[in-house]
Amino acid sequence: MSLTLSHLPSKKDIKVVYPRSPSTIDPNNPPWPAFRGYHTYSFAYATMGHRLPTILGKAIDDVIETLNQESEEEKVVDLVQCIERMDKLKEDLHAHARLRPIIDDGEADVALWNKEIAKYFQGKDFMNAPWLFAEAYKYRRLRECFSVSKYWHHYDVFFRQKCDTFARSNDAVFELSTRFVEPFKHQEGLADDAKLEAERLMFMELTQICLWGNSTDLSLLINMTEEQIKSLQSTGGENLAATEKNILGNHMARLWEVVKEMRNKTGGRVDFVLDNAGFELYCDCVYADFLIQSGLAKEVRFHGKRYPWFVSDVTKKDWNWLLNSMVYGHLFRNASDQEVESLRRLGLRWKQYEQEGKWVYEQHPFWCTGYTFWDLHNEAPDLFLHLSRSDLVIFKGDLNHRKLTYDCAAPSSTEFEVAIGPMASAAGAPRVCSMRTIKSDVVVGLGSDGDELSERLEKEEPGWKISGKYAVVLLSEGRPGEKVRFA
Ligand SMILES: [Mg+2]
Repeated sequence: MSLTLSHLPSKKDIKVVYPRSPSTIDPNNPPWPAFRGYHTYSFAYATMGHRLPTILGKAIDDVIETLNQESEEEKVVDLVQCIERMDKLKEDLHAHARLRPIIDDGEADVALWNKEIAKYFQGKDFMNAPWLFAEAYKYRRLRECFSVSKYWHHYDVFFRQKCDTFARSNDAVFELSTRFVEPFKHQEGLADDAKLEAERLMFMELTQICLWGNSTDLSLLINMTEEQIKSLQSTGGENLAATEKNILGNHMARLWEVVKEMRNKTGGRVDFVLDNAGFELYCDCVYADFLIQSGLAKEVRFHGKRYPWFVSDVTKKDWNWLLNSMVYGHLFRNASDQEVESLRRLGLRWKQYEQEGKWVYEQHPFWCTGYTFWDLHNEAPDLFLHLSRSDLVIFKGDLNHRKLTYDCAAPSSTEFEVAIGPMASAAGAPRVCSMRTIKSDVVVGLGSDGDELSERLEKEEPGWKISGKYAVVLLSEGRPGEKVRFA
């Protein structure tokens, strides 16, 4: 029997008002609509359905390569079990399985993960949880495949790939090492304002090098040829002027004003929340080297991941590998003696900074969770307090940008300060700069006519949000100096 409801009011098309009010925002309900794997029009869908299984397949190939070179029975058996766990994860991804709690493997982030799953994602699966969380969760589960093993706890399935990409970036690597091998100093007899102008010009170009170094993200370049990678990495001057017009939200001039003041006013501490290992990390270090040598900064802190993350993200092992292979390595067989020497001396200087405490590498567990940075203040108060003491926190890359902006469908005209919520508005929030080549759906900070610009690009260049051709350099002033408070 069916009930006929002809006398009730007709159903209305209900308009939801965004952004949500702050008290109703949580990891399953971002301020603007979330991207979820089941939205077939989104990059989230392509990632969850195709890209992640491909990445996992390649990771399994890597482990098999290692397995084939192992001779100890106990280690072989142990590694075979890691592969079986990876196969299970692949199955779960394929079957859109529910997100189960993380096994207690002794990692510092287990409680953070399981609290978030219990509070917001009970019964959710890989496709209907917000994309950001589901994708992060996959990398945590991949970690678990090894962290519960006896001999392979620290194994990095992406390590070979990360090393390869740096080794294949030889042109750009030597372009920079031969330019920056000599410590920065001003020409003789320059007046003060001419010195400042020289520094400004260097800063602007290096900011772009640091920015476009982010184009090389292994998780997105799986189908790129070597030639395509090389053209992305080109660091020639003409190329930089041409690429500045691709920076759709561009606060570089304001960024210079901030950095310029640092030297005199505050003593200068800059923090980098890193993205990718290899060539991008190398570019970040060149940039940080200039900040130290010019005296603009006295201290640079680099924040990396505790374990392999989103394929190419920096771990402590990648950091050490870069510096040591610069100084001792034989990566570049076809390089000239001068080129090898320039890289060696640059590496020695960077190691010296580390010894002197001018450069510090850190790895807080919060960076490898599914939380966005809207929750950094609440879920990692120690980290927030630590960052609040920095003069400038530079977030590199797409994932950090997604986490800053809650990875949701905010209009492109949304101001960066609004899009990053408490990271701009909480008392004591540091100055935050996001340097990101655009590789996923969320795009904010394009200015008052940003919505039209975004629509036009959508029509003229479908795929503009994932190509890495466009970028943003966005700055938030924060509320530095104010006393940090926690509820
Ligand atoms: Mg990355």
